[in-house]
Amino acid sequence: MDIDQIKTLVRDVPDFPEPGIVFRDITPVLADPIAFSTIIDLIVVHFGRGNVDKVVGIEARGFLLAAPVAYHFGAGVVPVRKKGKLPFETLDEEYALEYGTAALEIHRDAVVSGERVLVVDDVLATGGTARAAANLVERVGGQVRGIACLIELDALGGRERVSGYDLFTLIHY
Ligand code: AMP
Repeated sequence: MDIDQIKTLVRDVPDFPEPGIVFRDITPVLADPIAFSTIIDLIVVHFGRGNVDKVVGIEARGFLLAAPVAYHFGAGVVPVRKKGKLPFETLDEEYALEYGTAALEIHRDAVVSGERVLVVDDVLATGGTARAAANLVERVGGQVRGIACLIELDALGGRERVSGYDLFTLIHY
């Protein structure tokens, strides 16, 4: 299955979660066994086994991609969550979304100093979320090996927001 075929599985949901936003729903991609294994394999091949110690998944859809990627790397998996959800001591970063603002948190002991960390999410829009997650990784002592998102919304300029990192995205709008 190639990327064009996988792209046809992404479902556009107009006016969700608010008027004017076209939500790119990846659940049909995740539900398709071939599409799901293909996107995970492409991320693993891009960054390469032996180059990643931890994979950060951004709540919530990032979790679904980060865990299988981490498993293939033989890496650990780390959740970055919305503020107030993680139980232990945390660091937080404020960030701006395509729609609204929020804060993300990481457990302060989630990464060992110097570990190579891949950040994973479903959609790169303005890049604020990915940038905040990368900042958190660096603040707990990790080295950001790269950022992988299934979808990149090119017009929103997220790529510039995370310039300096190896950004790998598979589907473009
Ligand atoms: P941003 O911080 O602007 O790059 O927004 C990225 C985050 O918001 C990701 O965690 C996405 O899940 C979510 N997101 C933003 N825009 C969309 C969209 N059009 N469709 C689906 N998810 C989106």
